[in-house]
Amino acid sequence: MRPPILFPLFADVTSLFKVGIKSAELLANLGIKKIADILWHLPYSLINRRAVYSIDEINSGEIITIALKVIEHQSPHKRSQPYRVYCEDKHQNPAVLCFFYAYPSTLEKNLPVDEWRFISGKAEFFNQMLQINHPDYIAADVRDIPLVEPVYALTAGITNKFLMRLVREAFSKLPVFPEWQETHFLAQNKFCGFNEALKTAHNPKFAGDLLPNSSSRLRLAYDELLANQLALAIVRQKIKKQKGRSIEGNGEFRRKVLAMLPFKLTAAQEKVLEEISCDQKSPFRMLRLLQGDVGSGKTIVAFLTMLNAVECGFQASIMAPTEILAQQHFETISEMCRTLGLRAELLSGKIKGKTRDKILSDLRQGQIDILIGTHALFTDDVEFRDLACIIIDEQHRFGVHQRLNLSAKGNHADILVMTATPIPRSLVLTAFGDMEYSKIDMLPEGRKPVDTRVMPEKRIDDIISSLKNKLDKGERAYWVCPLVEESQKTDLAAAEQRFEILSKIFGHKVGLVHGKMKEKEKNEVMEKFRDGEINLLVATTVIEVGVNVKEATVMIIEHAERFGLAQLHQLRGRVKRGVKPAVCLLIYGYPLSNTAKARLQAMKDTEDGFIIAEEDLKLRGGGEILGTKQSGFQNFRMADMSVHQDLLLTASKDAKMIVSEDPELKTPRGQALRVLLYLFERDDAVRTYLSG
Ligand code: ADP
Ligand code: MG
Repeated sequence: MRPPILFPLFADVTSLFKVGIKSAELLANLGIKKIADILWHLPYSLINRRAVYSIDEINSGEIITIALKVIEHQSPHKRSQPYRVYCEDKHQNPAVLCFFYAYPSTLEKNLPVDEWRFISGKAEFFNQMLQINHPDYIAADVRDIPLVEPVYALTAGITNKFLMRLVREAFSKLPVFPEWQETHFLAQNKFCGFNEALKTAHNPKFAGDLLPNSSSRLRLAYDELLANQLALAIVRQKIKKQKGRSIEGNGEFRRKVLAMLPFKLTAAQEKVLEEISCDQKSPFRMLRLLQGDVGSGKTIVAFLTMLNAVECGFQASIMAPTEILAQQHFETISEMCRTLGLRAELLSGKIKGKTRDKILSDLRQGQIDILIGTHALFTDDVEFRDLACIIIDEQHRFGVHQRLNLSAKGNHADILVMTATPIPRSLVLTAFGDMEYSKIDMLPEGRKPVDTRVMPEKRIDDIISSLKNKLDKGERAYWVCPLVEESQKTDLAAAEQRFEILSKIFGHKVGLVHGKMKEKEKNEVMEKFRDGEINLLVATTVIEVGVNVKEATVMIIEHAERFGLAQLHQLRGRVKRGVKPAVCLLIYGYPLSNTAKARLQAMKDTEDGFIIAEEDLKLRGGGEILGTKQSGFQNFRMADMSVHQDLLLTASKDAKMIVSEDPELKTPRGQALRVLLYLFERDDAVRTYLSG
């Protein structure tokens, strides 16, 4: 249950004065749905409404505040002309205020003749006379004009003034929280309280107040990072606390499998297996992350890990993110299992009714040694006789947190999470917490580099004709069109259009997959591509391409500049598996920023996913590293991974200490930390694992 103290902040924005459905829709474009979101929407700049005594001090174009005496009102003769109010400063320098389509009565009330008013707005000069069009502020008391004003990111229909009002109202709902940080920590870092930090962040006085490393923003970032780390630490601790089993087979299965393989394990694979075996042998539960680039050979490592458990009489299971990947794992594994006298089964969406029931009952009776399926299929009715080893193949998505919850229920199984996305250490921390991790940091020998080229849009015709050559020779190609969130519709349309154009040129062997298709439809297209019925696959998203097609040698990516480097790297990895040399064409659109240029260049320069990932973090910051929400990466409102890495490490240590000293969050600080977890919406762990 969310603590009641937070209720006001979790109310919908429409509960605010004069915020209707229309404004709410516009605010949603800024990620603002509830009142707390307004507080998270920090200004990125400020306006200094410099106060001046006389008009002589003003430069044209400046935003200023000045006291003016009202001399005369002049109504326009025609509606298209402005209403003018003539004024003068204290040296009798003339000025004019202009209003289009104004209400004279309001202006007469606000600007009475012969009186002094403080006016703030953008100064312009015409014929050496100061002119201010539609002043931002008109006030009798200068204290009613903010001399420094925050500037917020806006969207059409939402003005800065409107947002400023919302922020003011949101602050009026902000409760006084119990302090969740330790006093000495605050003192040591010269951090103020949470509310004060938030206030300063919204009321910058100096440009420095806007920087992510200003004291107030550091404090807020730290709070958010601590919430993130604490949630992960709670899950981890609960999983680790459950007793595991000591698993150590005699190695017979492994020896046999290794003898069957047409290759030798790489040194990296061996090292990682060693680390995993060590965990398996220990009496505690394993919780390990295995990172390895696409094609680094994680599947065989997973298989050998499972065999170790099976050898000891237990069951093992691997969850894949998609049906096709589950099927691919099944194909890799099942034949070897048969040779070993073991039974592997695939639990896919296609398997229904009696067949499914039979698998489930065999599973319960322990007649199945290894079960392969998608994440979605591991629901409550799937019961094992004795499951000792769970492999979660995440590929590129990171919903791990929830899935750890799921797989943690009740059993003592070891957990190995595999990911194909090379991510920097700091992001591993934010996505997985302080989890042990292993890295397969080399590819098997003999992999050929991909010929990567960066090309402008205008060369698309050349690209198509060289593509034709390749397809004629029996090769297969991916053509990826990006999907940008703000305009899903038009981007989908762009992909469909591209599909049509390519279909006209290449005929019926062109396929299209996109995110709006049903899983089943997607699978059908993907299967056709795998079987060669389709040889050119147009796709809108990365996820759909998560499949192994050896014949695919060409990867064409339109608007490559819109993708995260990690995504580009994944996509390029798709064409690396074959025997033939592969090419990857990164097509960019205009205008191309310098950062975008540097990023595409980095793609051309290296194929080492870890280098690319670090580069991407430097160039874009962690929030964006995978480009899309689909990645499932934790989104931060206050923290910025390209700046706050040190804070993250501190938060990670702090979180560890908290769960070891106060595992149930029962102490006063623990209670305050619960509020923090709910405030930053990292509360699943609390709800699942903590009582009261
Ligand atoms: P990923 O890490 O992307 O899951 P896979 O496990 O699918 O990679 O392996 C990619 C390909 O490399 C497979 O065809 C696999 O058989 C092969 N492979 C795995 N390990 C080695 C190795 N040590 N030497 C040569 N080929 C290997
Ligand atoms: Mg894999």
